[in-house]
Amino acid sequence: MVSIEGIRKEFAEEIQRVATSTELEAIKVKYLGRKGPLLELMKTLKEVSSEERPKLGKEINDLKDEVSAQIAQKLEALIGKEEKEQLGQEMIDVTLPGRKRFCGRKHVLIATLDHIISVLSGMGFSVQYGPDIDTDYYNFEALNFPPDHPSRDMQDTFYITEDVLLRTHTSNIQARVMEASKPPIRIIAPGKSYRNEAISARSHVFFYQVEAFYVDKGVTFADLLSTMDAFLEKVFNRKIETRYRPSYFPFVEPGMEVDVHCLNCHGTGCVICKHTGWLEVLGAGMVHPEVLKNGDIDPEIYSGFAWGLGVERLAMLKYGITDIRMFTENNLRFLKQFSVT
Ligand SMILES: [Zn+2]
Repeated sequence: MVSIEGIRKEFAEEIQRVATSTELEAIKVKYLGRKGPLLELMKTLKEVSSEERPKLGKEINDLKDEVSAQIAQKLEALIGKEEKEQLGQEMIDVTLPGRKRFCGRKHVLIATLDHIISVLSGMGFSVQYGPDIDTDYYNFEALNFPPDHPSRDMQDTFYITEDVLLRTHTSNIQARVMEASKPPIRIIAPGKSYRNEAISARSHVFFYQVEAFYVDKGVTFADLLSTMDAFLEKVFNRKIETRYRPSYFPFVEPGMEVDVHCLNCHGTGCVICKHTGWLEVLGAGMVHPEVLKNGDIDPEIYSGFAWGLGVERLAMLKYGITDIRMFTENNLRFLKQFSVT
């Protein structure tokens, strides 16, 4: 049979080890509950002699009171301690500085594109969009690239089927515009273009292009040069030095490439300009008579100019970005540098 002293000793040891109010509750159930040792002892009272019974009964009750009192005392201490801990955890330090939240902003490339569109819109050009996936006719044939003509090799094309491709330039919009409207035509066509090229610091498999296309009576080469110069000056917000090099594009005659004096190194040579001091940003020329004929416009009456501008090149030049891949790598440390909106 369990002795009163045995229970007292065991209880004293156990309550010593209790660290939380939950553990204390378990001890309470263990000692004072219906299956506890004190109640078991009570049951043995009827087995003892009537002389000893009051004494033993008193001892059991005393122990019960003692256990209850110690549990109550311990509970008070534990609750105080636990409340203090909880308060400590939940405390708000009002002196801590707030966390800085960053505002979303336009990607530097889109901001540059929007700026270009806004400048050209201000110069009287309207914006036209066309499909990224197009037929061979609109991307090549209507632009005076005859089938099997070697000039097609100039642009490495992603073909989807023999006749359907990812456009290699946004010039695919020219023929559509001529089909739908008559001169004067003064449009720009912004969008993505795709070329099957090796990805490097200077070229990518896709890039943004803004095509400008102007057809009217009496449009001259001088109009092309002055419009381009005015446009570049507005985009860069300063006088820009340009250089024209004769070049061949099937849809213009004469054709040229337009270089801008490198703003990054001011002509001394750097990675952006391949150490030449110049960076090509535009391909331009007078619209080829065949292209006008394909668009049902009489080249004897009308003339026009067109240019294709690389938006990445322009942004690289404007912001001193040395690698075209940065635009698509989604590196926030890179993107956050530009406060453009
Ligand atoms: Zn340079």
